[in-house]
Amino acid sequence: IGIMAHIDAGKTTTPERILYYTGLIHKLGEVHDGTATMDWMVQEQERGITITSAAVTCRWLDHDITLIDTPGHVDFTLEVERSLRVLDGAIAVFDSVHGVEPQSEMVWKQADRYQVPRIAFMNKLDRVGAKFLQSVESLCEKLGAAVPIQYPIGLEQDFRGVVDLVTMEAIYFENEDGSRVSKEPDLTALSQEDQETSAELREKLLDFLTRNDDELLSQYLSDGDVDVGTLKKSLRQQTIDGVVVPVLCGSALKNKGIQTLLTATVDYLPAPSDVDQTTGMDPHNESKLIALKRQPNELFSSLVFKIANDKFAGVLTYIRIYSGTLKVGDTVYNPRTKMNHRVQKMVRMRSSERDNITIAEAGDIVALVGLKGSVVTGDTLSEKKASIIYESLHVAEPVVAAAIECESIADSAKLENALARLAMEDPSFRSAEDPETGQMLIKGMGELHLEIMIDRLKREFKVVTQMGAPQVSYRETIQNEGVFEKLFEREVAGSKQFAGLRARVYSLPYEKNHPTLKITVGTKNDSPHSKGNLMAISFAELPDHMKTALEAGLNDGVLSGPLMGYKVIGVGVELQDIFFDKERSEPSALRFVAAQLVRTALSELSPQVLEPTMRVEIFTPSGFASKVTADLKSRGTQLESITEQSDGSHHIRGTIALRKAFGYAKNLRSLTQGRAQYTMHFCGYIVYNPPTS
Ligand code: GDP
Repeated sequence: IGIMAHIDAGKTTTPERILYYTGLIHKLGEVHDGTATMDWMVQEQERGITITSAAVTCRWLDHDITLIDTPGHVDFTLEVERSLRVLDGAIAVFDSVHGVEPQSEMVWKQADRYQVPRIAFMNKLDRVGAKFLQSVESLCEKLGAAVPIQYPIGLEQDFRGVVDLVTMEAIYFENEDGSRVSKEPDLTALSQEDQETSAELREKLLDFLTRNDDELLSQYLSDGDVDVGTLKKSLRQQTIDGVVVPVLCGSALKNKGIQTLLTATVDYLPAPSDVDQTTGMDPHNESKLIALKRQPNELFSSLVFKIANDKFAGVLTYIRIYSGTLKVGDTVYNPRTKMNHRVQKMVRMRSSERDNITIAEAGDIVALVGLKGSVVTGDTLSEKKASIIYESLHVAEPVVAAAIECESIADSAKLENALARLAMEDPSFRSAEDPETGQMLIKGMGELHLEIMIDRLKREFKVVTQMGAPQVSYRETIQNEGVFEKLFEREVAGSKQFAGLRARVYSLPYEKNHPTLKITVGTKNDSPHSKGNLMAISFAELPDHMKTALEAGLNDGVLSGPLMGYKVIGVGVELQDIFFDKERSEPSALRFVAAQLVRTALSELSPQVLEPTMRVEIFTPSGFASKVTADLKSRGTQLESITEQSDGSHHIRGTIALRKAFGYAKNLRSLTQGRAQYTMHFCGYIVYNPPTS
């Protein structure tokens, strides 16, 4: 399960208390002391955002619960979405003083998209100004079917327990650290008002659940009530189906309501086995879906969702096992690299400790230790026979680059290794040397993405760097299609070299995760024809090393476009005839001719320059909405919608050219006195029209 929350609602404190109560942490670490367990990246604590996810397994009522720390920052879409897909369920933490805040809404909608069942934890009921019923109301209004299954006894300083609306017992959290929980089945000790509200809320709960459960309804109609077992069963099913979100009460800081939250997690959120199967894609054809049963006896498959460097164990590869069983000594296959890896050691992370394990199965979340070879987050590891991938093999290409420079020579020496490690964790982050200036360039999916990487270099790798102004990575594409033919015939070092190619080159839609170059094999030309005494053959008839050379040549051709030398995207090549001679055709000749063909085609098929655009979403208090909109317009933003929320704040959505978005964070802060929130992520390319000055 994941913990989802708006910044400051208790996303760090809540899991920390969960670990405490499950006996893993013996000493409470406060967030502000910087000892919280989940937030093991120092810089996350400073920024107050959680960038990467760690997984910790704890035990409650004979169940293993693995907590995944979902990133709270929405800018890192790939990472947020990956962490959502490995979850079976989530605890959404809300601040009962503020109710639902804009960012919670965004995370909630993402979770909706992945159909993650949720329970809501109304936190901070000990704080001055805490409101339970009002907060639940705002939850229902903005997020849908939230129904309380607890009602707080006392609020603010007086918050001391809850009424369990399923069993109709009073539960009190005693002792300084809330560690003693006592139950009182008789509610008459409560104030008249609390008794009445509890009764009303229980009616509402029954009313809601009976709407979708005929069995429950008939029991209710005949007996006037329902037994606890049937009620729990129905609540569990409807939570798993996403029909209802049960709301619980607590104060993480004061250690109240954590044990009941854990029990509700076991009672109402799904176990891995509650989901029959997981769907992935065929690595050879991503539009073909493949489903594997979530059973230990199914073929083994898993998704790598996190790679972390552990001080003691070295590189840890966290996997979510979707199907089958994995044992130490087994070999797993990576369809992206077509490589096999032997599993030498496997651990389950238990907060600061690690349990060595020898076997894991469908549903488990474990870390593989010291896997050799290149594995990155988002990779699928499986039995080769399974032939499945859980994420597209086409990772989005970086859209922004910036030069970086180290402050000391000692740092320069460490830089390369550090950059390689970061790229392994986050494939949308890359680095390369600028061939013209010799400077080191870092590349990523937005300005903030690069800034955070600079921060991580400093914190995790102790490498201090300065970043230059970010530069947009433009692209080129073509607009037409045509058939081209190229021949290569030359004497090289005394021997005659020969190769030829005929292919149709056409434009492809340039979507976000689309391959830059799509190579397909067309049919050979109908009328058999020859070149220089050679008959045309098809791709399938080529020896393997020649196929590799041909593909390399086509890729060489799209490296730099005819207009400005930018990388070319959205190009399809349909191979038709290949002219080849066993005696006279070296791979280099075929590679050369393929690159030449692509270059000629690009310059003749109406090339154009593209620029990256970002989707921007802003939540601003109403007083600033017009200023923010006017500023967005002046930056050429395509506004899509401006909606007023029930609390008067505005939600503005649109798309903006990346080059016009640099420095936006600072700009928005000064426009709104720091009171607006925004997210921005890469959404695609548009035709670049250079400003006329
Ligand atoms: P995050 O930003 O979502 O990770 O939230 P944190 O867990 O860091 O909590 C934000 C702040 O709220 C911290 O100062 C916590 O000590 C405080 N806090 C968290 N839970 C509670 C609570 O139940 N009651 C009160 N009064 N403060 C809380």
